[in-house]
Amino acid sequence: MTIVKTISEIRALRQKLKGSVGFVPTMGFLHEGHLALVKRAKAENSAVIVSIYVNPAQFGPREDFGAYPRDLDRDLELLRKEGTDIVFVPSDDEMYPHEFSSWVDVEKVAERLEGASRPGHFRGVATIVAKLFNIVQPTRAYFGQKDAQQVVVIKRMVADLSMNPEVVIVPTVRENDGLAMSSRNVYLSPRERQAATILFKALTLARQLRRDGEKDAEKIRRKMTALIRKEPLAQIDYVSIADAGTLEELDLIDRPAVASLAVRIGKTRLIDNMPLE
Ligand code: AMP
Repeated sequence: MTIVKTISEIRALRQKLKGSVGFVPTMGFLHEGHLALVKRAKAENSAVIVSIYVNPAQFGPREDFGAYPRDLDRDLELLRKEGTDIVFVPSDDEMYPHEFSSWVDVEKVAERLEGASRPGHFRGVATIVAKLFNIVQPTRAYFGQKDAQQVVVIKRMVADLSMNPEVVIVPTVRENDGLAMSSRNVYLSPRERQAATILFKALTLARQLRRDGEKDAEKIRRKMTALIRKEPLAQIDYVSIADAGTLEELDLIDRPAVASLAVRIGKTRLIDNMPLE
């Protein structure tokens, strides 16, 4: 496994690779969710490149950029075990050189839900992913369903700007009690960790209501909201039942839909989602 820090180094290595390249962009502090992406990339490509970069541009001024968990040595050990070929660990200066002024702004789909709660978040995400695609030139790029809106935003960007990589989506990896794995779960105290299961419970309720034939999206939102309110540590940011392709809120569920939510547990903001078939 080769670890590189500069754009020129990774470009030189990339040029020597023959066959398909699978790319997994991450912010590090890796868990089984990230590793599921790496495993899938490994199974489908001749070589796997993973990036680890906590992108300051996708954090708001009052968000957790400074506190975001980091453990590069542990991450590299996990990636080595998965048979990763190259790990790209750039510095801020490498990614945002002096006078950096070009941004990728995806409209509409990036403005709702996470985009409304976290202004500028998807501008940061789309810009760094576009930049990483230009540097790594992957055949396929792997993203988690855990960040459902990110997936829709990236797919929109790739289609609109005629980018090359095939975008592959990997299902959400969960803890035994349903909590979606997330680097941010380490922020939770034992009591908060217990309370955090309310997200999965609310999504499971949505899926069950839908399976039982419920087509009224507002009824499902209301029942999810009522369930979450029973958890004293939980503070709802949003509860959404939306079109799976565009993330526009639905009244009537007459097409593939996704239930998604953002909930604060104490100071920690968690997101999760579940496709409603
Ligand atoms: P992050 O390091 O949080 O930026 O995540 C890097 C990639 O891993 C993104 O594509 C995430 O959607 C994906 N990911 C994070 N958590 C999970 C999970 N629990 N299951 C599947 N993919 C995940």
